[in-house]
Amino acid sequence: MPKDNIPYKFYLEEKDLPSQWYNVRADMKKKPAPLVDPVTGKPCTAEALSHVFCDELVAQELDETTPYIDIPQEIQDFYKMFRPSPLIRAYFLEKKLGTPAKIYYKFEGNNTSGSHKLNSAIAQAYYAKKQGLKGVTTETGAGQWGTALSMACSYFGLECNVYMVKVSYEQKPFRREVMRTYGANVTPSPSNTTEVGRKILAEFPETGGSLGCAISEAVEAATSREGYRYVLGSVLSQVLLHQTVIGLEAKTAMDKLGVKPDIIIGCAGGGSNLGGLISPFMGEKLRGEADYRFIAVEPASCPSLTRGTYGYDYCDTGKICPLQKMYTLGSGFMPSPNHAGGLRYHGMSSILSELYDQGLMEARSVEQTSVFEAAQTFARVEGILPAPESSHAIRAAIDEALKCKETGEEKTILFGLTGTGFFDMYAYAAYNDGRMTDYIPTDEEIAASVAKMPKIAL
Ligand SMILES: *Cc1c(COP(=O)(O)O)cnc(C)c1O
Repeated sequence: MPKDNIPYKFYLEEKDLPSQWYNVRADMKKKPAPLVDPVTGKPCTAEALSHVFCDELVAQELDETTPYIDIPQEIQDFYKMFRPSPLIRAYFLEKKLGTPAKIYYKFEGNNTSGSHKLNSAIAQAYYAKKQGLKGVTTETGAGQWGTALSMACSYFGLECNVYMVKVSYEQKPFRREVMRTYGANVTPSPSNTTEVGRKILAEFPETGGSLGCAISEAVEAATSREGYRYVLGSVLSQVLLHQTVIGLEAKTAMDKLGVKPDIIIGCAGGGSNLGGLISPFMGEKLRGEADYRFIAVEPASCPSLTRGTYGYDYCDTGKICPLQKMYTLGSGFMPSPNHAGGLRYHGMSSILSELYDQGLMEARSVEQTSVFEAAQTFARVEGILPAPESSHAIRAAIDEALKCKETGEEKTILFGLTGTGFFDMYAYAAYNDGRMTDYIPTDEEIAASVAKMPKIAL
């Protein structure tokens, strides 16, 4: 029998799966700042947003008062294909580290997209279908979001147009083929199929692309044609809302096991998995019912929370999306080509940014060689080959567990293992060959990019 009567792997029963998402904004006294229209400089109206996003998703984006939002039955049914995700007690890792800490992780890699992104993709495809649209457009960085969306669109018979960051398109041909297998059209970005793509190519002909730039192309492709809307796999509050299934399941499972985490850790790109994981716990903290430490982990090469500025910025390089108040490195920030593609975003969820600004959440940045060292340790003892993005959370979880080893504290740590790394073998190869380097932007580089942020006075 394992220690403390806690099983290695714990799955909720179907009847205990969430039937509602939890909207943490409802419990925030000071809410995230409103989205701002890039044309008028005033808060976005639902009407204006409805040209870009599906109606129901606009309602979710703007809703900061309803604590629980029903998950439509069709989405709940789809979730059952790959949920519940397991809550795993990392006994092998604990033993390897020789730590008194108790480590748990919520593993979201058990579906073909290989990540948590399917949780929101299926919701967004559902609302697009319900609205009678022909299709959706989107961007994908590392490819996980594009894959998830292709799966969701093929399920509902929707057209799916994916702008894939060029470096990933070239480095990850297999991801591209998974998307095409699910029927998606995949275009490397920047491309000459959009005005904004042509403009960026004219200025930076050699660029390998960025998420922000691919977003601009996808938005243009959606808004310049009838019957299409743009969908986004991170950053937006609606995405964070859908991802709360992770935290709700984790919380129910831990309650059933009689366990309370002291520290909750997640990697942060645009903030959706971390926001989804911590939301129910943060809700308790906001209502004064319990206390937790929350840690966001980001790459040292793209440190939006730890070295960015809190203010209004464009969500995309093309400056056509609504503006969001967030911790940002500036929308023109071109992160170095590090291997955690899903974390190469210049900004952060407005919800997480506000929670961080209020001191309710911590953040730290980690260098990629130390991230891969943690990934390798984890893979060798826990069996799962983690995604480079997820390995940022592993790094911080290991560091916290090692601190417990020094102090003798038996803390309980929960982290989000967002996905698997089977499509990231070039990155693993670079690490295994000792060719991996750590690029950290200088203060001057960040200052130059932040200086171009728009001046918004509300
Ligand atoms: C996209 C992605 C992330 C980062 O996105 P968030 O919105 O910050 O959660 C992390 N891990 C994996 C595996 C991803 O695919």
